[in-house]
Amino acid sequence: MLDLTYEAPQPKTIAGATGDWELVIGLEVHAQVATKAKLFSGASTQFGAEPNSNVAFVDAGMPGMLPVINEGCVAQAVRTGLGLKAEINLWSAFDRKNYFYPDLPQGYQISQLYHPIVGEGEVLVDMAPGIARRVRIERIHLEQDAGKSIHDMDPHMSFVDLNRTGVALMEIVSRPDIRGPEEAAAYVGKLRQIMRYLGTCDGNMQNGNLRADVNVSVCRPGDYERYQETQDFSHLGTRCEIKNMNSMRFIQMAIDYEARRQIALLEDGKEVVQETRLYDPDKNETRSMRSKEEAHDYRYFPDPDLLPLEIEQAWVDDIAASLPELPDEKKARFVTEFGLSEYDAGVLTAEVANAAYFEKVAEGRDGKLAANWVINELFGRLKKEDHSIEDSPVSPEQLGKIVGLITKGDISGKIAKDLFEIIYTEGGDPEAIVEERGMKQVTDTGAIEAAVDEVIAANPAQVEKAQQNPKLAGWFVGQVMKATGGKANPAAVNKLVQEKLGL
Ligand code: ADP
Ligand code: MG
Repeated sequence: MLDLTYEAPQPKTIAGATGDWELVIGLEVHAQVATKAKLFSGASTQFGAEPNSNVAFVDAGMPGMLPVINEGCVAQAVRTGLGLKAEINLWSAFDRKNYFYPDLPQGYQISQLYHPIVGEGEVLVDMAPGIARRVRIERIHLEQDAGKSIHDMDPHMSFVDLNRTGVALMEIVSRPDIRGPEEAAAYVGKLRQIMRYLGTCDGNMQNGNLRADVNVSVCRPGDYERYQETQDFSHLGTRCEIKNMNSMRFIQMAIDYEARRQIALLEDGKEVVQETRLYDPDKNETRSMRSKEEAHDYRYFPDPDLLPLEIEQAWVDDIAASLPELPDEKKARFVTEFGLSEYDAGVLTAEVANAAYFEKVAEGRDGKLAANWVINELFGRLKKEDHSIEDSPVSPEQLGKIVGLITKGDISGKIAKDLFEIIYTEGGDPEAIVEERGMKQVTDTGAIEAAVDEVIAANPAQVEKAQQNPKLAGWFVGQVMKATGGKANPAAVNKLVQEKLGL
């Protein structure tokens, strides 16, 4: 088993007037399931469609309509669970969570409170090379999304768009194992990465594909360790939940604000009240939205329209067999197979398309050199022009050939950059271009020797100086490189210059 060893990061500590405080964070991430149709209807999930055009009768809560479960959504939830190394529950059930909201025509949300489809799992959250935290997953359940109320289109009216009503969400609930704002963002980033590898959620935060409810509390140093030993929540502080965050930056700002607000309350001798809060990015503050509601407030009960969901182990095994190599494994393999640093391996495996591109470049070649070219030259250039790897003007085959030419000694690193530029802007076969345009490095010692002799003969004063101060030999190397149009092999030139000057 390929494995990298990790040390846990330090928890974020905030110094208060009465001593240090530590942060404790647990996230409920809502990830939109990547499927064509909704959880219980055949209506399309396409983003950006004409308002109220993707609505089946059952989504609109029409009388007599019955939900029919979409097998594709179940498969995606199982796939996600397997990707998070979680237990899959072969028996799960749907419950009604009753509440009124204008964008919820049924008057209830179908969710899985008591028997979720996925049980305990874990995610490794990478913070820096060698530093990562294992965050435990408590559960993943399937549920319906609500529609959208739009209040800012008209001064007198609100609008409702039901396109999103009934779209499948996976709610991924973490244990309170996250210890700082950066870790919380990195956790969401890691979930997103894994789900994108799996193809179970697009992870587009701007479109609301991935949103998080962020639970924050503060405690004194040592309290968290006591909680870990006993799993007794009374060692932790009272939490507040910040709803519906869909930006990595705001998640971090909201946590920081919220932790400081709680510390100020506690240090003032007041109590933190458990409640649901909203983050206002314009003012950078969280505000109370409602007091915390409990499960019984929603009058949860098993949905009588849906039978319990029973799946077979063989079906789960088939899904397991079809899982791709996941980010942690790929990263570890890149480190061992190609001799890359963990940092570079992390950059290359951030997106599966990048990793696939790199592997084509590196196949049968110098992995480190290939990584340098992909990360520094290619990614740098693509970023500058806002290109994605999918529409890269340089194919992996072309970049691979450039790397091969450098390794063979046919071209120097400097000429390789010119060649890359030609391929990027004009295209073509790197090997043929090197031949046609005479870009090959001169390794023929006869030709280099002639050039060295010429430079030495023409500069007797410099020769004398260099013989007294060998550091000046570099000047000769430069002159020979200039005389050969940068095509001489620098190592060969250096060796000859040393010899001829008798150094
Ligand atoms: P609810 O449905 O009431 O929000 P859940 O159990 O579904 O409750 O989710 C609670 C979330 O809050 C979980 O992610 C959990 O890890 C987190 N959490 C629980 N206690 C604390 C705490 N003291 N500090 C921070 N987060 C907490
Ligand atoms: Mg919650």
